[in-house]
Amino acid sequence: MAMTHGVSIRDLSLSFGSLSVIDTLNIDIQEGEFLVLLGPSGCGKSTLLNVIAGLLEASDGEVWISGRNVTWEEPKDRGIGMVFQSYALYPQMTVEKNLSFGLQVSGMAKAEIAKRVARAAEVLQIEPLLKRRPAELSGGQRQRVAIGRALVRDVDVFLFDEPLSNLDAKLRAELRVEIKRLHQKLSNTMIYVTHDQIEAMTLADRIAIMKGGVLQQLDTPQTIYSRPANRFVAGFIGSPG
Ligand code: ADP
Ligand code: MG
Repeated sequence: MAMTHGVSIRDLSLSFGSLSVIDTLNIDIQEGEFLVLLGPSGCGKSTLLNVIAGLLEASDGEVWISGRNVTWEEPKDRGIGMVFQSYALYPQMTVEKNLSFGLQVSGMAKAEIAKRVARAAEVLQIEPLLKRRPAELSGGQRQRVAIGRALVRDVDVFLFDEPLSNLDAKLRAELRVEIKRLHQKLSNTMIYVTHDQIEAMTLADRIAIMKGGVLQQLDTPQTIYSRPANRFVAGFIGSPG
């Protein structure tokens, strides 16, 4: 049964000392689904992404990716790519090098690297930027390169942690459309963290709303809006219900 799932979070809990940040969380994300994790600042969204990515160890519970229990696997073996708001590009390297560096380190053949970089550059429409360095790029262009670095690794699952929160409103709206288009083109499983209700409503196949590390509701944007599970959800989404 786990085989049909892109990502499964099973009975996951995490505490920092006496602070419970994630409490017995269960979420099944279908393969190819665009799931948005929505909730106010401090509710545990980044912590959860980091557990899925393998950068943080849970106190209890399991993470399954593509039908495999990855709870004890290294981050690099999990088939995931993470896109942060801080871009985390290498400032001294060209865009091309930023895209190819990780693959070179892994020992991939040059021809395969070139093919993957060319494909990512085409999908993300950053071909004219390949010889530039991050400082010469706009925020939106940097964000595309950051996505490209996950793309060239040919990952099954993309994790986004508030990737647009440092950008202005106009650019955010543009990149929302681009990320949606990218998902339609690639059809990878995507888990996208935000505290922005509009981002969640426009991007998500389903939204998981969290509060204080506890899942409040997991449903389509339409259902969450028209039938919020409780007052917190209604208030947070701004729905009439
Ligand atoms: P979000 O991404 O939803 O804003 P986080 O996952 O970053 O929330 O944080 C959830 C809670 O865990 C917050 O109360 C935060 O202060 C706390 N927290 C996060 N990381 C640590 C840490 N390394 N040590 C102690 N507390 C932490
Ligand atoms: Mg966060």
